[in-house]
Amino acid sequence: SSRRLAEHVVAALRRVETAVRDAEDELGAIDTVAGDGDHGRGMVRGVSAAVEAAERAQLAGAGAGDCLAAAGDGWADRAGGTSGVLWGAGLRAAGEVLGEHAGDAEIAAKAVDALATRIRELGGAEVGDKTLVDALEPFRAALLSATTSSLVEAWGEAATAADRAARDSARLVPRKGRARPLAERSVGTPDPGAVSFALITKVIGDYLTG
Ligand code: ADP
Ligand code: MG
Ligand code: MG
Repeated sequence: SSRRLAEHVVAALRRVETAVRDAEDELGAIDTVAGDGDHGRGMVRGVSAAVEAAERAQLAGAGAGDCLAAAGDGWADRAGGTSGVLWGAGLRAAGEVLGEHAGDAEIAAKAVDALATRIRELGGAEVGDKTLVDALEPFRAALLSATTSSLVEAWGEAATAADRAARDSARLVPRKGRARPLAERSVGTPDPGAVSFALITKVIGDYLTG
């Protein structure tokens, strides 16, 4: 049921919070190369607010979709920074698609599709601009084109694609966001938002694997 799935949404978000806290310094360091160094801090603030908001919604009896949407609102409110606005709005869009559904591979792919579409609309970045979109799009494509009906398998493959793309973003020159004025300095270092995106998809994949 959607109530049951809401418990998993909260539990998965808690795992994401732990992983993002562990990666905070590394994400900050990557963002220092050509950005303003606050990506680790912003992601921690955003994801902890998301966990709190999802917990509150779940205790009030909300289904999975409403918990995820509340998580997005909490994230956007408290993260600060470009990535926080995008993650917040993306999670809300995913939650709206998830609605009262119980989880399966098809609805997960639709929710990720909505998250990606919202992030693209709001941020206006293209693939190759060296943003989190460079990890997000391969992730979305892998999930939507998965031939397996197993969510665990499909998500695992998509998370691997996101990780590869995040690493590959090192060779790109930034064309969006704060890294743009120091663009050349960023070559050789991956995009911070792409790295954190890949990390989050991996942690959720590990959670699904159990
Ligand atoms: P800020 O850049 O405001 O300090 P963060 O450091 O938290 O915010 O996030 C930076 C990340 O946000 C970048 O590494 C990039 O992945 C992502 N980003 C920036 N602008 C955009 C955009 N227009 N579309 C998608 N992602 C973006
Ligand atoms: Mg920053
Ligand atoms: Mg900033």
